[in-house]
Amino acid sequence: MTASSITDALVDRLTDRVTASTSDTLSTVDVFTGGTLAKVPHSSVADVVQAIEEARVAQQGWARVDVGERARIFDRFHGLILKHAEVLFDLLQAETGKSRRDAFLEASAPLVTIGYYVRKAPALLRPQRRQGMMPFAVKTTEQRVPKGVIGIITPWNYPFALSFTDLVPALIAGNAVVLKPDTQTALSTLYGVDLLYQAGLPQGLLKVVLGDGPVVGTALVDNADYVGFTGSTRTGREVAARAGQRLIGSSLELGGKNPLLVLADAHVGRAAAGAVQTCFSNTGQLCMSPERVYVHTAVYDDFLARFLDEVNGMKLTAGYDFGADMGSLISQRQLDTVSRHVEDARSKGATVLAGGRARPDIGPFFYEPTVLTDVTPDMLCYANETFGPVVSVYRVVDDREAIERANDTSFGLNASVFGRNLKHAASVAAQLRAGTVNINDGHIVGFGSADAPMGGMKDSGLGRRNGAEGLLKYTEAQNVSLQRIPLTTPPKWLPYTLYAKGLQLTFRLFRRSGIR
Ligand code: NAD
Repeated sequence: MTASSITDALVDRLTDRVTASTSDTLSTVDVFTGGTLAKVPHSSVADVVQAIEEARVAQQGWARVDVGERARIFDRFHGLILKHAEVLFDLLQAETGKSRRDAFLEASAPLVTIGYYVRKAPALLRPQRRQGMMPFAVKTTEQRVPKGVIGIITPWNYPFALSFTDLVPALIAGNAVVLKPDTQTALSTLYGVDLLYQAGLPQGLLKVVLGDGPVVGTALVDNADYVGFTGSTRTGREVAARAGQRLIGSSLELGGKNPLLVLADAHVGRAAAGAVQTCFSNTGQLCMSPERVYVHTAVYDDFLARFLDEVNGMKLTAGYDFGADMGSLISQRQLDTVSRHVEDARSKGATVLAGGRARPDIGPFFYEPTVLTDVTPDMLCYANETFGPVVSVYRVVDDREAIERANDTSFGLNASVFGRNLKHAASVAAQLRAGTVNINDGHIVGFGSADAPMGGMKDSGLGRRNGAEGLLKYTEAQNVSLQRIPLTTPPKWLPYTLYAKGLQLTFRLFRRSGIR
């Protein structure tokens, strides 16, 4: 049984927003039941090209709109998300199978980012006075010019949060956007698009295309002026290579195999509760979720006992209320990957201390929160991203071992450190090669602090979202320099030797006076 707010009329209204010229449709799954949820349009390559052309026309006028006026639309959008949150929760749950708590957290995340850019974008995009080549004689300004049409490609795990944290700064910066969300979660994204148009976004500025990534996503990369991609490392490499061929920029938010460190002085109860919250958030289908927990031997037994206690008490239900601690995986494919990783570990000698089995009695793709020990490098889940509710716990003898093992990965997205001595925890954090490090929290405080850029090191990505960088990446920096006194072309009557001497004298004077 799906949520009553998801009516045929709502689905029709939302799918009308998709650029698709044929009557081809794709079916999406009601994850809690496994039945069909909706039929959504299927865009062709020609539709992508058309969407880009229409967006390009709309962008011309939008770039001339004052940034403050643009920001006001997003302020109204912020209010509409809050007002219509319940429908959004329903859509997110139906399309992903996540718990209502996770749907609530997902719908809340862009509020922080949108609020941040509404406040900060006008100042960040304002022309900045720069030091000119020669004091007084040259006036130099750095202008921020929108790139044009931005292609945004997003995955299924956070279809609302990831789409809007990336596309709102792109639009505020004066661009148009063509968005390709994952088909399975299209309605959650389209609901946000609908709210944004209700908030007053000019028609044509935000277009949506749907279809297979290698076809529709590729067409977007081949025609946009910049690409913001969130998804797997494998696809990210393809997107970056293709964008590179066209000499357009791309930012890539990719996978992780995130470590969580429990230091010897950690408050063990808080560390165990924090680990449960972050490891099983979104049923572990969260790029920032830890899948490796390194615990100092001094607190290992205590931590493990409390962690298992919490995990064994978790409630799994398929309901549209706040009762469940954890929801479903999204699909049979995810269930297969999670089962394969756990069975592989079990067969090679890992100990399953909690979970380790599917729960078809609750819903077709449910899987229990799972805790493993004795995990070794030959096991699939040791170094590969499982992207499910599976965590391996390791005993370490000191901080050095914890740091070395935490950094022993090709990924570098997120890390968490639990410890009482905050100065010491911060020094451990500084030694971790991860784009975000949370102290005494799993991932939320880093993700939610929108003033600071966040993203991945190593195979976890390129570029950053949030902060000034998350806005300015959608612009070209333009240097506008004005010559007030003719410096570069000496008058015809002045011999060049005198001109050169005069300039050298000026350089010396500047050097002596410290201007340089
Ligand atoms: P995916 O790479 O398969 O797909 C992501 C998006 O790219 C989808 O919209 C898909 O249709 C599209 N796509 C697929 N092939 C494409 C191609 N050749 N060209 C252009 N677009 C293409 O990833 P997924 O399985 O949907 O998502 C899970 C992955 O995303 C995990 O690895 C997870 O860690 C990562 N992720 C990262 C972040 C982050 O912020 N770093 C956030 C969420 C998810």
